[in-house]
Amino acid sequence: MKVIGLTGGIGSGKSTVSEYLIKKGYTVIDADAISRAATAPGGPALKPILLEFGAGVFKDDGTLDRKAMADMAFASREGRRRLEDIVCTIVKDEFMAQVEHLREEGHEGPVFFDAPLLFEMGLEKDMDECWLVTASVETRISRVMKRDGLSREEILRRIDSQMSDDEKEKLADHVITNSLDLTWLYEQVDALLCIVGEA
Ligand code: ATP
Repeated sequence: MKVIGLTGGIGSGKSTVSEYLIKKGYTVIDADAISRAATAPGGPALKPILLEFGAGVFKDDGTLDRKAMADMAFASREGRRRLEDIVCTIVKDEFMAQVEHLREEGHEGPVFFDAPLLFEMGLEKDMDECWLVTASVETRISRVMKRDGLSREEILRRIDSQMSDDEKEKLADHVITNSLDLTWLYEQVDALLCIVGEA
């Protein structure tokens, strides 16, 4: 069972690749879903977040105020690192547990790990190979503006806070260039699946 990391910066199109893989019947473990569950009511990340960032990032009903949390975390490199440390540890443990479970079940075919912070978490070492989705900064900005309604400045701030595509390309085994239409994107994915031998 091959474990393939799938990553890319904000708005690059990793979720679009993920959805395509799922539609084709592949198993995809979603780091963002694990991270959302970890910060949902009763989730394992809430206590360490409270200890690290204080009650100001929680709403009156005790649930995490995601906007306040993101504002605080993205305001400084140190804040982001502290939040990533908490969430990444939980995501990594859960990912390992799910892979182990699939192995025990005798799962056949590759398992994909859709993880925006794959390289930042140092998880490439645990992958058999890594796929990186890229697109130009301008393309990513216009996609995210359309998708999330964020301002150009906010998106640029988030892009600047991530590892650059140049650095990521050095760590990736394959680069998927998502700068044109979806047909071109899916053709590249299909070609890579052929290389993996699972198309
Ligand atoms: P994030 O890390 O911010 O969640 P992402 O890398 O997962 O981003 P997607 O959500 O897959 O990116 O794509 C961003 C937006 O761009 C989505 O609305 C998606 O539908 C759109 N999109 C992705 N690829 C293309 C494409 N080739 N042509 C047009 N729109 C696209």
